[in-house]
Amino acid sequence: MVGTGFVGSTFAFALLNQSVTEEIVLIDMNSKKAEGEAMDLNHAVPFASSPTKIWQGDYNDCRDANIVCITAGVSQSEEVTRLTVAEKNTKITTEIVECVMTSGFNGILLIASNPVDVMTYMSWKVSGLPKNKVLGSGTILDTARYVHLLGSYFEVDTKNIQGYILGEHGDSQFPVTSQLTIGGQNIKDLIQNNKKYNWSDIDEIAIQAQQAAYLISELKGPTYYGIGMSLMRLTRAIVKNENAILPISAYVNGEYGERDIYIGVPALVNRNGWQEIYELSLNEDEHRKFKTSADTLKETLAPLLKMLNQDEV
Ligand code: NAD
Repeated sequence: MVGTGFVGSTFAFALLNQSVTEEIVLIDMNSKKAEGEAMDLNHAVPFASSPTKIWQGDYNDCRDANIVCITAGVSQSEEVTRLTVAEKNTKITTEIVECVMTSGFNGILLIASNPVDVMTYMSWKVSGLPKNKVLGSGTILDTARYVHLLGSYFEVDTKNIQGYILGEHGDSQFPVTSQLTIGGQNIKDLIQNNKKYNWSDIDEIAIQAQQAAYLISELKGPTYYGIGMSLMRLTRAIVKNENAILPISAYVNGEYGERDIYIGVPALVNRNGWQEIYELSLNEDEHRKFKTSADTLKETLAPLLKMLNQDEV
């Protein structure tokens, strides 16, 4: 795990709490922080269902790791514009990926640093790994926020809700309302048959999910529990070879009408990384939103790729 700030340390805690991995190595440019987190986390291990070895390490430890997760970087709240964050995090992330690859790493690269879709693309480019071995957390957290709000509204367990937020992990994300089902029943039928529910509430829920990070940031600062558990969920799908379909940042090559970007889509996740992308039948409005989201990512990506090429010259 590279980056032991709010996101990295919460992710580590989620992993040990649920005994997902045998070992966790913490790497941070602030080595004292990583060492302190490792000590603190180790004191939680006696209460876990099975032991996890945790220590502060360096990039050599990545050589035989199954997964390297990058959560290092600056966050939006520390920077004025999204582009400045993207530029700074591109430098940080690509330098880290180079160090990871120099170790001889040949596992799965999992990216959480923001803007996550763009950082995932950059990591793939710099790593030279096959695209299926590089994934980002994509819209897994946004989908969790959406499903949580829907669960409260319909008063059902979130496990009975099949719904997705797709696109950019950012402002242009959108819900695939046309395919949303609650307990196997399509949302359209549910609203038609029950006067308690209405479309404007469903639309409002998607807005609340999209705005959640801003509100949390206003209320308490950085967000980390949701993303910590999301990364744990993805790691479990990889480690346990689950073939789980999860909304991650995956490389599209014609799927949803887009090419050559990493973007939030449902994809099959197992020990080999992500495999096929599941193409939901989007309606016209959803297709338009997907395209807007893809265009936003391409716009952010273009100057960063130029910056990367200049650095290489
Ligand atoms: P943080 O500031 O608490 O932690 C960042 C850590 O990265 C620090 O410990 C810092 O020392 C380390 N770091 C910085 N540069 C480094 C480098 N070159 N090498 C090694 N370590 C380095 O930040 P945080 O709240 O943990 O957020 C981390 C990232 O996660 C941010 O980019 C944030 O936007 C992102 N995030 C993503 C999601 C998501 O859904 N994908 C959700 C929340 C936060």
